Amino acid sequence: MEVTLLKEASTARLAVHSPYRILDLKNGTSLREGASLPSTPVALKQGQLALGGIKLGTNGVRVVAQVDGTLELEGTHYRGEIHLLKGPKGGLTAIDKLDVESYILGVVGSEMPNHWEPEALSAQAITARTFALYLKGNGVNLGALHLAYKGTTKETPALRRIVSQTRGVVMLYKKDLFPAYFHSTCGGHTEDANLVFGKDGIPPLKGVKCNYCKDSKYYQWSREISKQELEKDLGKAYPSLKEIWEVSPQGRGPGRHVSQVEIKYASGSYRMNANEFRLLLGPNHLLSTAFEVADKGKTIRFSGNGWGHGVGLCQYGAGTMAKNGSIWQEILKKYYPGVEFVKIYE
Ligand SMILES: [Zn+2]
Repeated sequence: MEVTLLKEASTARLAVHSPYRILDLKNGTSLREGASLPSTPVALKQGQLALGGIKLGTNGVRVVAQVDGTLELEGTHYRGEIHLLKGPKGGLTAIDKLDVESYILGVVGSEMPNHWEPEALSAQAITARTFALYLKGNGVNLGALHLAYKGTTKETPALRRIVSQTRGVVMLYKKDLFPAYFHSTCGGHTEDANLVFGKDGIPPLKGVKCNYCKDSKYYQWSREISKQELEKDLGKAYPSLKEIWEVSPQGRGPGRHVSQVEIKYASGSYRMNANEFRLLLGPNHLLSTAFEVADKGKTIRFSGNGWGHGVGLCQYGAGTMAKNGSIWQEILKKYYPGVEFVKIYE
């Protein structure tokens, strides 16, 4: 598995807390080794990687530690090895190269509180494994946009045991992996992937009723956003949207998420994909696209349900189901109807 940690950065701090070697990415020549490496800046100097200001004579290296999990980049510990290289735009790129299970362990800890019920964490592990392997199989370079991953930060012995108990298990629909999306809180009904992402319908991602996330603090929310702020945020991608005076949601799916937003402004109106609208305003600000709007003059009040895109597993719902005694098979069958569970490697 290759996971992008940094893209086109100017510098990063690297440390290794066990004996290590730095090898040329192309020919494997050993460039540097030691018993450990204190936190040292890495940067590109005239197109060459430099460690602590000293050029390494190449633009790509592998950093290999003797003890797994002792590599540290920008203060976070990682399993596997780290590749540092010159990106296509000339900046510093860092990739964590590690086995699937180590990656899934990191993702589960980063995506769900590590003290949640074991059956909810198991469901999260299988969901993340299915999603990651689906993306990998489709040639996608995994990065922070796809799955949260903070290395070994949230690992605990209990989490390691839970993830290893589902080792290699994925969900298949008609014998194939599928994009097993998940999100924090659906707000009462998960959404049809087709409405949110505009892709061909996938039967396990059609949306189901969820009675289990009412305790989430994101179940219901409201935000008052000024029209000026809207203009500024949407202007990042659509600078012509000046003097916005009305926003109206269009086309609701089964989970009450809207598919489009019609924006009326000084010189006309524009229909935007609702998910794009939400991302431009900030996914942690406008929590979901399951909202109603009320015009308040200079501001617009968005009253909504849930946090996230609403597709696939509802994490708070999974947490409640697990508390109520459901096992991971029941949780996943609920949120992804029609799937089967297959162990694809030992
Ligand atoms: Zn829910």
